[in-house]
Amino acid sequence: MTTQLIKVRGIMENFDDFVRAGNLLKNGEVVAIPTETVYGLAASAFSPDAVGKIFKAKGRPQDNPLIVHISDFDDLAKITEEVPESAVKLAENFWPGPLTMILKKNEKIPLEVTAGLSTVAVRFPSHKYARAVIEAAGVPLAAPSANLSGKPSPTSAQHVMRDLAGKIPMIIDGGECEVGLESTVIDLTGEKPMLLRPGAVTLSELCRVLGDILVNPKISEEVDDGEMVASPGMKYKHYSPEAPVVIIDGEADAFVRYVMANSEGKKAAVLCFDEEKELFSDTGISAVSYGSKSNPETLAHGLFSALRTLDEMSPDIIYAREPELSDGMELAVVNRLGRAAAFNRISV
Ligand code: AMP
Ligand code: MG
Repeated sequence: MTTQLIKVRGIMENFDDFVRAGNLLKNGEVVAIPTETVYGLAASAFSPDAVGKIFKAKGRPQDNPLIVHISDFDDLAKITEEVPESAVKLAENFWPGPLTMILKKNEKIPLEVTAGLSTVAVRFPSHKYARAVIEAAGVPLAAPSANLSGKPSPTSAQHVMRDLAGKIPMIIDGGECEVGLESTVIDLTGEKPMLLRPGAVTLSELCRVLGDILVNPKISEEVDDGEMVASPGMKYKHYSPEAPVVIIDGEADAFVRYVMANSEGKKAAVLCFDEEKELFSDTGISAVSYGSKSNPETLAHGLFSALRTLDEMSPDIIYAREPELSDGMELAVVNRLGRAAAFNRISV
């Protein structure tokens, strides 16, 4: 199959392309689309066959459920059993935007979408091209990240090309994703709301709207083989370059000393902050920076792209710097980097 890459200049300029994307989706095909978080691989959420093509193209484990994307708040009630007050409040504050809510599904959502669960994950994205594609398709779209399973989520159409060229008919290229990490996921089906995945809508913002929120402990630790988890995606090794990633926890100078002392006889590479890249300039060690130490949004934006760049260098090992936790997007960055490193962390 040839993959068409559609470089979008605007909705009106590319109107025919959006109609074609909508028709592909209506006919049970998959299309990769930009969103404000990462690129998604979309299919009709009402078609088990179409959804099956997502799992096949990505090599995604069958028990990892998908997020359903809508382009109108009223569509939430059409695919769920009930819309609790908490969901209304969250939607008022954060939709459209990078927040996914887990609710009880109704019979319109097939079990193929939810991997057999009675709950469904729903998001109303803010990206105008994502919304244009959902509207052109005329149905909610199930869409996980548009990467090969296990690879870092794609934050540009080129990343999607590298993973899925020849496997899907169309990619809508809307440029780089603004956020760069997947959506915040909150489960609203229990007695108290529970954060399952941190993202650009932060824990403190959620608490401001809902009050007390539980935080799933698996956000910061490895899941053991066979362990039951609230969100099946948590148990898979994610976002991983081929080389092992080790997080080095400490001050910048101690980090440099550790890397120098532990690079003999192997090709080491470094994932660091912008401010620290030059510390490696005369060392013979490749350093890739992913954003500013003082700005977690830039770290979120650059992390997956930097992991892909490091992957292309084929190092034997990657030593990584992570931000200190605070009440912003640091939690999301630490969570994704932790997953890439299988939570392998050394204090220096
Ligand atoms: P992705 O879109 O690739 O970022 O993956 C979707 C994420 O949402 C995965 O981590 C899933 O485990 C999670 N998810 C989707 N549906 C549900 C659900 N019904 N309950 C809990 N987690 C879900
Ligand atoms: Mg994913």
